[in-house]
Amino acid sequence: MRVANINGRLALKGPNGFIDVEIASEGRFGPDPQEAFDQWNDLVAWAPQMLAETDGAPAMASVKLTETTVWGPPVPRPRQVFAVGLNYRDHVVESELEVPQEPSVFTKFGTSLTGHENPVELPGGTVDWEAELVVVIGSHCHRATRETAWSYVAGLTVGQDLSERRLQLTGPAPQFSLGKSYPGFGPLGPELVSTDEFADPDDLELGCMLEGGEVLQKSRTSEMIFDVPELVRRLSAVCPLLPGDLIFTGTPAGVGAARTPQKFLAPGDVLVTWIEGIGTLRNPMLAS
Ligand code: ZN
Repeated sequence: MRVANINGRLALKGPNGFIDVEIASEGRFGPDPQEAFDQWNDLVAWAPQMLAETDGAPAMASVKLTETTVWGPPVPRPRQVFAVGLNYRDHVVESELEVPQEPSVFTKFGTSLTGHENPVELPGGTVDWEAELVVVIGSHCHRATRETAWSYVAGLTVGQDLSERRLQLTGPAPQFSLGKSYPGFGPLGPELVSTDEFADPDDLELGCMLEGGEVLQKSRTSEMIFDVPELVRRLSAVCPLLPGDLIFTGTPAGVGAARTPQKFLAPGDVLVTWIEGIGTLRNPMLAS
């Protein structure tokens, strides 16, 4: 199942385009994309059945995409957002840091989330890209084991952990959470893809590029130091994970701050981020 947040409403991807879930389900499921996680397993069961019964075209429920369509983040109001730094060896090496023995965890505050095609205002000249796989939790998860971890995951989406490097690294101890939480610094989407859609959800190509320009990052999620089951196990050993929570799982090598000379996002750049089997997220950068 693939779902999106289109004009603030939960939409399901069918064979002929997107379908409004509230209309197609005659109110069984509500329009709020965040509330989908309260009934996630029911939704995953209902969607293919409805598509089969209606030949993929339920009456009146089709969503037309136009120039004024607003793509919201597929998860608009998570209660908790976890993010993991230094989770790919090649990124640890380029950052000239030691391989962590424990995941290095921070948060991105909820107001930083945005969707596909939404512009991001750059608050200065040192904003960096970080292409990341984002895990969405589907059910209450406390003290998961590696073996049970994936069963708590609703699905996966494409994310960017945009980072204002000056603020992030200011002070005697770096403050990752604030420097990574300007409005628009957490683009997500376009779609959230349920875990049953992947042959191997632990090995997906991911990367990002500037539109019409060079590829900035390209790797595979199998290169993570702490893979998804390990992150779910270790995070849930401390914090119960709640339906609709997010985990930004870290970025591979190729960030701008580690380049010589350093390179950062500029107004007019369009950042394009992709993950195999999930989709391509596009965000234009604007001057503030
Ligand atoms: Zn990151």
